[in-house]
Amino acid sequence: LRAKSYYSFGISLHAALQRFHDSEDKGVQTVAEAVASLEENWVSAGYDSPEEAAEALAEGRELVAAYVESPAARDPLATTLFVEKQLRKDMGAFELVGRLDRVDEYPDGRLEIVDYKSGIGYSEEGLLSDVAMNSYQLLLRTKMPNRRVFSTVIMLKTQERVSVEPDEETLREFEEAIVSIGTEILNREYAEIEPKPKPLCVNCDFLDLCLRHPEFAEGYSEIAADEGNKPIAQL
Ligand code: SF4
Repeated sequence: LRAKSYYSFGISLHAALQRFHDSEDKGVQTVAEAVASLEENWVSAGYDSPEEAAEALAEGRELVAAYVESPAARDPLATTLFVEKQLRKDMGAFELVGRLDRVDEYPDGRLEIVDYKSGIGYSEEGLLSDVAMNSYQLLLRTKMPNRRVFSTVIMLKTQERVSVEPDEETLREFEEAIVSIGTEILNREYAEIEPKPKPLCVNCDFLDLCLRHPEFAEGYSEIAADEGNKPIAQL
């Protein structure tokens, strides 16, 4: 797959914040230490030029520094239980696996799943139907049952927090949907599926593979021409 700069940027930020919130890591507690941690963990893959990577690193330094000093970083009443924690849940025919950025616990026993985002525009409504966050909910509620569990996103660019508490019914429906989609994926005959060209193929990492299919390649060239997208000759 082609490296993408936004993944590298997100991975670098996550690594710096992981060290900042890791209670066993007493070496990263100040702005300067958090920025140094970002520099140590900087992933430069996917940038078009050294200048673009340097600009991104400068933005990353600003975001990390602003985050460390922001009240959004962590409620003083909360204790961090886990950082970058992988959890698993047996779903019958398959296992659900997720890596949670951070889990905080409040004195009244409620838990908060915290997810860092380098993008903006997250809403309560979106968070309630977010597949990754609801998967984290299922995983954490299985590991630590009978607790109230909140889903929280921190937008690093603006230091805003959005937080929701999905109800049992929402999560039950979500679990049913995951089981049904997972079962369908497991039982499909992939060798018989033919790729169909569509506008989103332009940005797909698997485009080169689908283009080996002659009918797909023909249909895709029309889409690429219609939309002014990259023609096949440049792929
Ligand atoms: S290019 Fe990607 S999105 Fe398009 S058909 Fe192939 S796998 Fe699906």
